[in-house]
Amino acid sequence: MNPSYEQIRARVDVAAQATGHAVNLLAVSKMQPVAAIRELAMQGQRAFGENYVQEAIVKQRELADLDLEWHLIGPLQSNKCREAALHFDWLQSLDREKLIEPLNRFRPADRPPLNVLIQVNIDSEASKSGCAPDAIPALAAAIASAPRLRLRGLMAIPEPADADARGAAFTRMRERFDALRADLPGIDTLSMGMSDDFELAIATGATLVRIGTALFGTRNNTR
Ligand SMILES: *Cc1c(COP(=O)(O)O)cnc(C)c1O
Repeated sequence: MNPSYEQIRARVDVAAQATGHAVNLLAVSKMQPVAAIRELAMQGQRAFGENYVQEAIVKQRELADLDLEWHLIGPLQSNKCREAALHFDWLQSLDREKLIEPLNRFRPADRPPLNVLIQVNIDSEASKSGCAPDAIPALAAAIASAPRLRLRGLMAIPEPADADARGAAFTRMRERFDALRADLPGIDTLSMGMSDDFELAIATGATLVRIGTALFGTRNNTR
């Protein structure tokens, strides 16, 4: 039993109820042992997020007896597109056009299209991945022309600033999300909010929160 799970689930549900829309919980399991993932799966959690392709593949193999949904949430290098297309249900970190063709080509025909979120560098941080906010429409159009990819929405990791600045970043994401949704059918996912700020993110319109340490405790950085 992971005692944090019920608590976090309850907090997500309360925050979601206040907004009137459903919110999905992604358990971020990077650098956490397989046993901890299995434990959470036994408690009913189905969607897990990983940052590193190789680490995820090892875990997926050990957990193949469970019906889990895997999200890649870390930066994707072009030379990992094949493995990303083969081994994940969602890619939350698509941030440049160059990745679209190989992802589309390598997505197996016998699997549903790869669900994709465009990662947005909402605070325009020099060191961060994510596309510029103004690049969203062109990237969305390019994804729409790739039949093996299915664009579902946007993802962001705001700068770790104070709550006011983070709230402002969440609001800017919400505006971009609403604009995208007005243009394109099938857009239903706004992924923002982590252990420290998921309630604020939900209040601002997040439909998916990515929670690691609040569920699993501190990560083991030796992997
Ligand atoms: C690690 C990570 C998270 C989870 O962060 P916590 O603060 O542990 O909840 C969420 N999203 C992304 C993209 C991450 O890399």
